[in-house]
Amino acid sequence: MRRYLVTFFLSFCFVLTLLNLAQAQSKKHHAPQSAKLSGTVFASLQKVNPENIRAHVRFLSHDLLEGRGTGQRGGDIAAEYIATQFALYGLKPAGDKGYYLQKVPMVGVTPGDATTFSLVTNSHTTDLKPLDQYVAYDETQKPQSEVDAPIVFVGYGIEAPEYQWDDYKGVDVKGKVLLMLVNEPPSDDPKFFKGKALTYYGRWTYKYEEAARKGAVGAILIHKTEMASYPWEVVRNSNSGEKSFLQLDGSPKLQVASWVQLDVARQIAQYSGLNIDKLMQDARSRDFHPVALPVRLKARMVSKVRPFTSNNVLGILPGRDAKLRDEAVMYTAHYDHLGIRPDMPGDNIYNGADDNATGCGIVLELARVFSESAQKPRRSILFASVTAEEQGLLGSEYLGKHPPIPADRISLDLNFDDLPPLGAPEEVEVSGAERTDFYPTVEALAKDFRLAIRPDSRPEAGHYYRSDHFSLARVGIPSFSVSEGMKFKGHDLAWGMKQAEDYTEHRYHQPSDEYSPSMDFTADAAMARFGFALGWAAAEQSKLIQWEKGDEFEKARMGNEK
Ligand SMILES: [Zn+2]
Repeated sequence: MRRYLVTFFLSFCFVLTLLNLAQAQSKKHHAPQSAKLSGTVFASLQKVNPENIRAHVRFLSHDLLEGRGTGQRGGDIAAEYIATQFALYGLKPAGDKGYYLQKVPMVGVTPGDATTFSLVTNSHTTDLKPLDQYVAYDETQKPQSEVDAPIVFVGYGIEAPEYQWDDYKGVDVKGKVLLMLVNEPPSDDPKFFKGKALTYYGRWTYKYEEAARKGAVGAILIHKTEMASYPWEVVRNSNSGEKSFLQLDGSPKLQVASWVQLDVARQIAQYSGLNIDKLMQDARSRDFHPVALPVRLKARMVSKVRPFTSNNVLGILPGRDAKLRDEAVMYTAHYDHLGIRPDMPGDNIYNGADDNATGCGIVLELARVFSESAQKPRRSILFASVTAEEQGLLGSEYLGKHPPIPADRISLDLNFDDLPPLGAPEEVEVSGAERTDFYPTVEALAKDFRLAIRPDSRPEAGHYYRSDHFSLARVGIPSFSVSEGMKFKGHDLAWGMKQAEDYTEHRYHQPSDEYSPSMDFTADAAMARFGFALGWAAAEQSKLIQWEKGDEFEKARMGNEK
């Protein structure tokens, strides 16, 4: 508690600047509402209480919620809990007509025991072991699919005209199974796949989408820890048991969407008389050409297919400006996690305390504080807790396609995902904010909050494409996540780094991501306050926020591209 007071005192001085900023922005065209505004904002920030965030996290990550699995009872209870809080705060329902819940039509696909997955050559048939050697789903959502197709190594599986890169070279891969690397060709040149940073081309979702667009029946991604930036455990945990998909909407899908361990890829290469390291090396060249391998994938994909409905939870606080209240600033945080694995021995509940009860706690606290503020911001504030993030950003994808306010009238999305309760932060991460014309405000506010902006600590991990703000960016909404950096008060940078490493190794997407009373929610409260100030400024400024010129999402904002 004491720490909290100290932090708050430090951020006291920011209020004046926030006031000046709001004034500067409103002076141009509007009568200043400064005195009142500053009082409101100041009072609101004071009301943010880390112990409220703790309470939400404690409940949402309780064993009784069974890991908030998508399509599982615990996930539905979490959604109802969040809807109830929205109602208590007096938010207006913004889901399906008159409801806080927005139904998201989904299909659960569980690979069955009868599934087989074999590598076949003239002389060998090797049956691979599920989970240990491979994971695979049938995206076509059929109970049974038979695949018997030659494997083609397509390098990184990327076709990116803007970087003059094409791994396919026009080769017809219709009906084939494509073996490929995750990530993208390595480079430090910022003009080439953004240098060290990962672009969307490096993400596994892109690889599946592109393979399906080209008519392939299957894709096999090669897992190598350094390249994927997460261990096989993560692949395995996110790809076993039931996995959810949005109901088919006509876009092409793969019968085999799979990952294999590096050793399996090594074996495939060996069967072909080739060396996997050499193949991977060749793939780094612009001149790479697809390699047809004398190996077939013979798979019988047997799946239990379960249509169901999950829910996004949406509440809105109408803005005070009669004209601007048709526009909104949005806050998002996914509430789902990996659920429960009844067949797993020992602790089989993926509580998801950090990931992402913390983000939900922050958005709930923001909703409370906004709704209790004496004066409302000019634009409306939309609060969205979305489902099925862990299944591939599905709830937010559906929200992006079916927003309660048209996407081109949503000025900004601020997303909160996995904010470790580690004490008072001295840094903030806002990766992606620099792609928008809102960045000067972000910088000014960070300064006022005495938060150093930490550049993406691992741009090569492609975090921008790994949380829900990305789904909203894809439909054009300027979006980014807000999170602590690595430096915390009373600790050196190395300590923060070590915490992050420890989390990735020992808790991330594991049953051990659990609530503990020793957690210090000062961090989450600080991010909520900062998020409040950002959202308030965005809701007050006269113009809608836009992407910087040439950004990959600019076209979507202008309605030129889906
Ligand atoms: Zn998450």
